[in-house]
Amino acid sequence: MMRLVLFGPPGAGKGTQAQRIADAWRIPHISTGEMLREAVASGSELGRQVRELMERGQLVPDELIGEVVAARLAEDDAGGGFLLDGFPRTAHQIEILDRVLERLGAEIDRVILLNVPDEIVTERLAGRREVGDQGQQRADDNEETILERLRVYAEQTEPVADVYRKRGVLADVDGTGTVEQVFARIQGLLVEVAG
Ligand code: AMP
Repeated sequence: MMRLVLFGPPGAGKGTQAQRIADAWRIPHISTGEMLREAVASGSELGRQVRELMERGQLVPDELIGEVVAARLAEDDAGGGFLLDGFPRTAHQIEILDRVLERLGAEIDRVILLNVPDEIVTERLAGRREVGDQGQQRADDNEETILERLRVYAEQTEPVADVYRKRGVLADVDGTGTVEQVFARIQGLLVEVAG
């Protein structure tokens, strides 16, 4: 069983690595950012509630995203494991996740922290902006919003890593280098978790 959380600053390469991990271990990739972008694109009630906050680079309310995650984790395909990408992002979201998992009789096996120095994060995010409409650009990839997302990460999300570190489930991974190099590091530790 593989129940994982992937964690790291914006621009750390979470999305790319998450997809690879999910494929390799045949578990659903549950990206809260992706689910929210889909909600915005579909014009749903949820989408209307979160669009402005997302464009500003701010977090959507904990209870709102908590409901989205609770519903998603209750789906059949998450019963055999999952990879959470982008959740939990605040101390309160950890509590929400703990409650959801308790109901499901499940526990997180590992929280993978992708460590990437600030300079590289800023470079990568700037690069993503230049990619244009070739697939990677997002409405929240403008300079002002990037700075806000980095600030929000440092202030609200970094403390989440400490909580999991104290619980002994955090695994630090060097997020620098090529996609292949980073993935190889992650696989190295996941093989241990699985064994
Ligand atoms: P991401 O793709 O993970 O960078 O998420 C994009 C945006 O979606 C974030 O900047 C937030 O506005 C929102 N979002 C995604 N996940 C969460 C979460 N767990 N809590 C609050 N807001 C979130």
